[in-house]
Amino acid sequence: MSWNLVCLSKNRGGLGVLDLAEFNKALLAKWVWKFSDSPDAMWRTVVSGGLQGRRQRFLPLPKPSRCSSQVWKVIHRVGTPLSSVIRWRLGKGDRIRFWTFHWCGSGPLMTVYPELFEIASNKDGMVWEFWNDSEHGGGWTFHLQRRLSNVEFLQYTQPYCVITNFRIMEAEEDAPIWILTPSTGFNVNSVYLWWVEDRPFNGGVARKAHQIWNCKVPTKVRFFLWLAYNERLLTRAYRAIWRPGENSECPLCEQSLETVRHLFCECSMAREVWSKLGHVVGRAWNPDTLDQLWELGCRLSRREDRSIRSKVLQTLVPAVMWAIWRGRNDKIFVGTSVSPEGIWEGAKGSMSTWGCYCAGAHSVQVEQNALFVS
Ligand SMILES: [Zn+2]
Repeated sequence: MSWNLVCLSKNRGGLGVLDLAEFNKALLAKWVWKFSDSPDAMWRTVVSGGLQGRRQRFLPLPKPSRCSSQVWKVIHRVGTPLSSVIRWRLGKGDRIRFWTFHWCGSGPLMTVYPELFEIASNKDGMVWEFWNDSEHGGGWTFHLQRRLSNVEFLQYTQPYCVITNFRIMEAEEDAPIWILTPSTGFNVNSVYLWWVEDRPFNGGVARKAHQIWNCKVPTKVRFFLWLAYNERLLTRAYRAIWRPGENSECPLCEQSLETVRHLFCECSMAREVWSKLGHVVGRAWNPDTLDQLWELGCRLSRREDRSIRSKVLQTLVPAVMWAIWRGRNDKIFVGTSVSPEGIWEGAKGSMSTWGCYCAGAHSVQVEQNALFVS
């Protein structure tokens, strides 16, 4: 199981386990934000003391040298990625770098117009240096290192169209805006989620995750479903990956490799149980994959339908899967015999118990009796 997937939030298909290393970095990021947001703070003056005249530089932070302090090195390492989620509100233009900061358009001009940046003459200049104040409202000028061809000139008028909507406001300070949560400002959780949810991971069931974690069944069953849909359930075929030579045969039918798909869909035992369920709900029920199984289960119970019947139906598929899994475990570890009837009775028993989670025991019983007798 990938650690990145485990730390992903439940809504995105993970388990929502807190990654302490990333959370610690997110806490450090708070200081990087303060570094940008409180230019006059005493601590900031102390930390940036080693920057030799580069104190006015904010995110992206200047690169530390070999003799820079550890504090500064950590701030730099954690803070550098943050510049991609900071947008600047233009005031005086003395804290914003014209080319490298995101203050207009869809990103920093340096990344949106890389060819133009390549031949720009004042690559590190502040925004105010590019502004010409005049009686007619002022305007922007940026100089290039060479003359442009006619074709290039047309192409290079694009940034003018973008920045022409902006102007220097002498009375206001430049201010960073936290793009991830612009209405509430910077918060540690938004950085943490941004980092953790952006990491690559294998598998994942993002689409079904929300439904799995909201299913009205005990937490251990939700976890079991989550493992099954991520193909991480400890079936014999999965164990055989790192224990070659061990028996990987399905314990129920003893005819095929015990994969998650076989156990819950292809196995003759499972098929008999699903056909019983199909008989109860009055439709053919022969799922080939776990996805189909889930879709069929969802079609039975509409989420907007809050009736007890819908809630009972919602637990049908998880209850049968759980009963198959328990039957399989009993056969392997206790040695008891398993039959489709036994699994089906186990599933009905689970549904009776779980039904009490979402409604009164009596009404659930009435609904189930109606369902199973009809
Ligand atoms: Zn089987």
